[in-house]
Amino acid sequence: MTLARPLPAITSDSRPFWTGGERGELLIEQCDACDYYIHPPTGLCPECESRATHYQPVSGKAFVETFTINKREWMPGMPENMVLAMVRLVEAPHVRLVTNIVNCAPDDVAFDMAVRVKFEQAEDLWIPLFAPEAAA
Ligand SMILES: [Zn+2]
Repeated sequence: MTLARPLPAITSDSRPFWTGGERGELLIEQCDACDYYIHPPTGLCPECESRATHYQPVSGKAFVETFTINKREWMPGMPENMVLAMVRLVEAPHVRLVTNIVNCAPDDVAFDMAVRVKFEQAEDLWIPLFAPEAAA
C-alpha cells in the first residue's frame, strides 16, 4: 500500500538519508572525528564542530519515543488514523526521526515499542517508515 504524503525537500546534505532505502540502508550522518550521529543532516558536527562527516548505515532498529494518531485527511488519499511518531535510534538515542508507524493498528502503538525501519518508495526517494519489530 502506498500512502499519499508530501515529499520532503531534499538538500545535498540530506539526499543520502532519503535515498539509502533503495539499498535497504538507513543512513545517518556521522562525524568522522568524534563518531557523533548528526540528524537532521547539516554537514557540521554540533559536538566538535568538525565538517568532516560521512553517512553511516545503522541497524534501522528504534524505539517509539512519542506518537499521535492523525484523525484528519490532510491531503487526498492520506488515510485517517495514520500514526505520526517520533522514534529514537538504538545506536543513537539522541537521534529522533519523525515518521509513521505502519503494519500496526493505531491502538496497538505504545511508548518505547521496538520498531524497525521499512522503506516506502516515493518517486526517487525512499521514505523511512517504521513497523513493529515483530512484523517488520
Ligand atoms: Zn564531532
